[in-house]
Amino acid sequence: MFIELPEILVCPHCRPRREEASLQGLVAVVEEMADRTVLRGCLGCAECDARYRIEGGCVHFGAAPGGRAQAGGSQAAAPAGGRESASARRADGKQESPAELAVRVAALLSFQESPRYVLLGRGLSEAAAHLARLAIGTEIVLLTDVIPGAMPPGPGMTRLTGVSEGCLPFRSGRIQGVALRGGRPAALAEASRVLEPGGRLAVLRPELREGEEGVRAILEGAGLRLLACDARAAVAERA
Ligand SMILES: [Zn+2]
Repeated sequence: MFIELPEILVCPHCRPRREEASLQGLVAVVEEMADRTVLRGCLGCAECDARYRIEGGCVHFGAAPGGRAQAGGSQAAAPAGGRESASARRADGKQESPAELAVRVAALLSFQESPRYVLLGRGLSEAAAHLARLAIGTEIVLLTDVIPGAMPPGPGMTRLTGVSEGCLPFRSGRIQGVALRGGRPAALAEASRVLEPGGRLAVLRPELREGEEGVRAILEGAGLRLLACDARAAVAERA
């Protein structure tokens, strides 16, 4: 976990239950560190006493509130308030290599502006390392439930498990780019919430069966302005 990431994190258990301004955030307890990456430790919530373990540089959300540290579990329940399945989605397009996918995401998000934080939803983990190399100085935050071994990710990447795309553990307006597969309304609304004004959302292979006007209406409903839409992706900007 990037050492500065707690500045934008909030407890996924407390966030749906309290005014955001009243949340104190999460405090990191570091047990092992390399460069600016916390390899082992935990994040603690002062409000509900939840402890979220950090193992292999990966933050495991989904621990029971008030309960014990969750030791490395990769199959965490969806946080309370999240309604979406936490199961990983398969990346089904084999015609596009991970490197090509990373370049496409970077282009959709306009990476030349060197964003501080970019969030990748499930099904995009294969592109994360390539993306981190394309965007030096950007921290790629990756939602996944599949942790291959205990290997820490490369520099510029933080993995989070046990997070529902419909209930993100981030403060509002603190992320510059979000890429998601699919377009479930709860995930779009959360992406919109965590984006800073002017930040971009890329929805890859939208599972939105609507035409462009339908996609526009759905995104506008989430507080986003549609910039471009085709069969492979929709790009929107936070209003
Ligand atoms: Zn909490």
